[in-house]
Amino acid sequence: MKKKIVIALGGNALGDNLKEQEDAARVTSKAIVDLIEQGHQVVIVHGNGPQVGMINLAFETASKHQPKLEFLPLYTCGAMSQAYIGFDLQKALRDELISRKLSNPVATVITQVLVNENDEAFHNPTKPIGSFYSEEESRDMEKLGMIMMEDAGRGYRRVVPSPQPVDIIEKEIIKSMMNSAQVCIAVGGGGIPVVSDGNRLSAVNAVIDKDFAGAKLAEIIEADMLIILTAVEKVAINFGKPDQKWLDNISLADAQSLIAEGHFAKGSMLPKVEAAVKFASSKKGRKALITLLEKAKDGIEGKTGTVIENL
Ligand code: ADP
Ligand code: MG
Repeated sequence: MKKKIVIALGGNALGDNLKEQEDAARVTSKAIVDLIEQGHQVVIVHGNGPQVGMINLAFETASKHQPKLEFLPLYTCGAMSQAYIGFDLQKALRDELISRKLSNPVATVITQVLVNENDEAFHNPTKPIGSFYSEEESRDMEKLGMIMMEDAGRGYRRVVPSPQPVDIIEKEIIKSMMNSAQVCIAVGGGGIPVVSDGNRLSAVNAVIDKDFAGAKLAEIIEADMLIILTAVEKVAINFGKPDQKWLDNISLADAQSLIAEGHFAKGSMLPKVEAAVKFASSKKGRKALITLLEKAKDGIEGKTGTVIENL
């Protein structure tokens, strides 16, 4: 059966530097085109942690030596990262499609994601970004309006809020691309966070979790399936302990209790399981799969991965 699928790519799908990113995009494209070849309609969401960090650091460093250069807002760094990651994926996907005699067009949509300005995350910034600073440097950055926090004796780091995604501004474009079997890369890095005052959007310095943003997109564009591709083949309980157990299926009810029992690490597996539950709960029949990048095809055929389904 042909499905509408949102694929959320984790860090491994993109490597740690430009060369690695180009190579990783080629490997990743094979896994994605496997699904397109089977007739599925896909939208690709990806992370941007290391990439946005690199852009941020480059401008931070450069602005110290060249006062005319502005200290770029985080959202501008995010937009830049969506563009160049999208470029690598778009190019690699097109090459892979053509090598298999497929002609689906591919494009990246720079995506803004609406957040609620009253989201409690804005009162409690938790997400550390960028490099470490001395106490003195951190005071200067506070004068520029940034929030700085001491990070486990290693120095000071900037922290930003991580609000929940509420809506996807470019959703109609993404949806129509998906519905006409055009391959869309969107919501990179969780999207560029924006708040609305009714008529105008303003970008904010925050980071939206890409797994949550992927789940929100999947829900809004009425995808059948959310596939979260990461560095493990399955989700485990008692992860890393002697009694570790890999899970094939988790019911919605069990997922809630396993989350409460603390089986999934904050900042890594927890947001994935929560995103999977959010999407699956949104409508009967919706299914989320968490698996290894290279196993996407096997996973969708039910041969591997961890499935959370609204039966
Ligand atoms: P990504 O870059 O794909 O978002 P993360 O590193 O954020 O990946 O999250 C995936 C990682 O979560 C896995 O590689 C694994 O080390 C870790 N992890 C934490 N808890 C679990 C668990 N209960 N089951 C499986 N993996 C887990
Ligand atoms: Mg992650």
